[in-house]
Amino acid sequence: MNIETLALHAGYAPDPSTGATVAPIHQTTAYAYATAEEIAAVFAGRAPGFIYSRIANPTAAALERRLAELEAGVGCLSCASGMAAIATTALGLTRTGDHVIAARGIFGGTVSFFAKTLARFGVRTTFVDAGSVDAFRAAIEPATRFVFVETITNPRMEVPDLPALAAVTRAAGIPLVVDSTVTTPMLLRPKEWGADLVVHSLSKFINGHGNAIGGAIVDTGNFDWRRGPFEDIGALARRAGKLAFLAHLRTLIYRDLGCCPSPLNSFLHLTGIEGLPLRMEAHCRNAQALAEWLSAHPKVDWVNYPGLPDNPCHEVAGRLFGGRYGGLLTFGLGSAAAAARFVDATRLARNLANLGDSRTLVIHPASTIFQEFSPDERAAAGVPDDLVRVSVGVENIEDIVHDFETALAGV
Ligand SMILES: *Cc1c(COP(=O)(O)O)cnc(C)c1O
Repeated sequence: MNIETLALHAGYAPDPSTGATVAPIHQTTAYAYATAEEIAAVFAGRAPGFIYSRIANPTAAALERRLAELEAGVGCLSCASGMAAIATTALGLTRTGDHVIAARGIFGGTVSFFAKTLARFGVRTTFVDAGSVDAFRAAIEPATRFVFVETITNPRMEVPDLPALAAVTRAAGIPLVVDSTVTTPMLLRPKEWGADLVVHSLSKFINGHGNAIGGAIVDTGNFDWRRGPFEDIGALARRAGKLAFLAHLRTLIYRDLGCCPSPLNSFLHLTGIEGLPLRMEAHCRNAQALAEWLSAHPKVDWVNYPGLPDNPCHEVAGRLFGGRYGGLLTFGLGSAAAAARFVDATRLARNLANLGDSRTLVIHPASTIFQEFSPDERAAAGVPDDLVRVSVGVENIEDIVHDFETALAGV
């Protein structure tokens, strides 16, 4: 079935006992069994079933099935947040002494996780330019355990050439992990371009309504866990096959970290996904129109949006995303003061630290999300002081343009 249909139907069929058409919120901690033998079989993995909602929950399971189908993956693990999905993945693939390669200019929380938190456990990360496949190849060491990129780096707005990168990781025998938060399965399925694992922050476009934090890990099935440099996962692969990595997480890392989603949040994400296809079309259409309008505005120094023909990533984005370029753009107003005045002056666009909401959002990253970075670190992250980030919403484009026009008049 096509993605618009899967968004509504995948992962849940009406409950035979009640006929409920929408997946119920299974607000329960644990699950009762009739006999000691039955519960022992579930604990041993010999019989299917739920044990405790930190490990799995029926509402979360419906969300996982829906996301796995949208990504055409072999399975999915849902997490309390996008950061939880990234941390769980990284901890599942590394041990002390290992090494990771990540793209420069990616989400600030992910940079901090690799550079600071993961480093505390003796796992080193090398950051390389997202646009340079050669830089990724050159950074690979015997201890490298995975490569991490975003489909469109946030806020640097670079689009890595996924198939070319996948050829590099395949040759090295390590997984390519792709954060597809800003593209969602609507713009591309990273699996089709060679990605091995896909991570999402569900908090953004997938939820779409700015009402719950969440994350997910999808195994695309592209990586052969029997052959990688992961002894424990390789041993599991003999029993769990394609699901070895997710089983490794669910029965060890994820279970022990306790970063499970709540049943209510799982429900909100499931509902959000139903409108995702329609919303993404509107986000992309509005962002394209706003990027073109801003490009022609005399007070705007520069606009970074892959949908603009002169953008350095226009070709690769067009090839990967089927002629749509997402809902995120950045632009410059010449100074930090002008950027701050603009953000102060918008009325419709909300000034807040989120993206992918149905509402238009703006933020001045240098003074907020990247506040604790030094000027050099901000430059490396691709965050000049005058940059304004816009997550273009699905309001009527005339109203968005009117808000920007009025706010720019006062800059
Ligand atoms: C927001 C975001 C994250 C982190 O997700 P949370 O749900 O906020 O933990 C990771 N990657 C990208 C690209 C994001 O935009």
